[in-house]
Amino acid sequence: MKGLIVFPCSEGQSLLQGQELYTAALELGMKDGDISGLGYDAKELSETALYKGVCDKAKDFDVIMLSSNETTRNTAALLAAGLGYALVNDVTGLKSVDEGIEVVRPVYTDSFFEELSIPAGKAVITIRPGFFEKSDESLVSGVEMMSVPAEPYVECGHSLTKIVSIADQIADAVDLEHADIIVAGGRGMGSKKGFDLCYEMADALGGAVGGTLSAVDLGYIDKSRQIGQSGRTVRPKLYFACGISGAPQHLTGMRDSGYIVAINKAPSEKIFGVSDVGIVGDALRIMPMLTEMLKKKKAEF
Ligand SMILES: Cc1cc2nc3c(=O)[nH]c(=O)nc-3n(C[C@H](O)[C@H](O)[C@H](O)COP(=O)(O)OP(=O)(O)OC[C@H]3O[C@@H](n4cnc5c(N)ncnc54)[C@H](O)[C@@H]3O)c2cc1C
Repeated sequence: MKGLIVFPCSEGQSLLQGQELYTAALELGMKDGDISGLGYDAKELSETALYKGVCDKAKDFDVIMLSSNETTRNTAALLAAGLGYALVNDVTGLKSVDEGIEVVRPVYTDSFFEELSIPAGKAVITIRPGFFEKSDESLVSGVEMMSVPAEPYVECGHSLTKIVSIADQIADAVDLEHADIIVAGGRGMGSKKGFDLCYEMADALGGAVGGTLSAVDLGYIDKSRQIGQSGRTVRPKLYFACGISGAPQHLTGMRDSGYIVAINKAPSEKIFGVSDVGIVGDALRIMPMLTEMLKKKKAEF
C-alpha cells in the first residue's frame, strides 16, 4: 500500500499536522518507503487550488491523507470524486486488514463511533487532529513542496455551483488544533470590544483565541477561529468557554479538551455539563479580574 500525506509546510510553520499524518500512515501498516509527503502553504491555497495541486500526484497512491479541517474536508471530497476513491472524514483510528482498510470515526456530534470498512483499500482520509502521536519531525521535514497555481481559485470541471464573490483570503491562520491553552468566547461576550477580553486573557496565559459560530456570525472573530462541527476540532490541555451556551455543534469541537473552565451567567447551560470548573456570573466582569490575577501570578515566577 502506498500513501500520500498532504499538510501545511511553509517556512517557519509547525509540521505537527504532517507528524500526525505520518503516524496514521504507519498505523495503516505502511513502511517508511511507502509514504510520500506533499507540503503546501496554508495561507495561500484555497480548497480547490489545493485539490488541483494534489490531484495529478494522488493517482499513484492508494491512500491520500490530510489533517481534518473545513478546507481539507472540501479538498478531500473533490479528490475522492476525481479519483473514484472512498472518502472518510475525521478519522480517529485506522488499520489495514486482509480485505482493505478499516477506519473509526465519531458520528452524531461525537455521541457514537462507527467502524467502516473500505474493501477496495483506495481512500481519501482526513484524520482528526490530536488523535495520533506525533512522529519524529525529521521524517516529514524534507517533503516536496507543492507549487501554487497562479490563480488560487480554480474551476473543477462540471459544477452546479456558481461563484458569486470571493471573500478575502484568511490571513489569521492560527494553529488552534495544537494550542495547549484556548480561550473561547461566544455570543455572551456581547460585542467585538467585549471579545477583546478573550484576547487579553489568552495573552496572559500564552494561549490562543477561538469562538462559536454565533461569535463568527456577529463579527466578533474570524471564521478561521470557529470551533465546532462546521469549524475546527481542538484538544488543548486547558479550554476556557466564556459566554458560550454549549450547543452540541460547539461541544463536538472541544469536549476532548483536558480541563474545561466555563464562565456563564445562566447556571443551567449545557456547557457546565462538560466542564471541570464552572463559574456562574458575568464574563465581562469576571474575565478582567481573572486576567489580572494571572498576570500577577506570572510576574511572581
Ligand atoms: C449545521 C450546524 C453547524 C453548526 N456548527 C457550529 C460550530 O461549528 N460551532 C459552533 O460554535 N456552533 C455551531 N453551530 C451553532 C450552534 O448550534 C449554536 O447556535 C452556537 O454554538 C451558539 O453559540 P453561543 O454559545 O456563542 O451562543 P448562545 O447559544 O446564544 O449562548 C450565549 C451564552 O452566553 C451566555 N451569556 C450571555 N451574556 C453573558 C455574560 N455577560 N456573561 C456570561 N455569559 C453570558 C448566555 O447565558 C448563553 O449561555 C452550528 C449549527 C448548525 C445547525
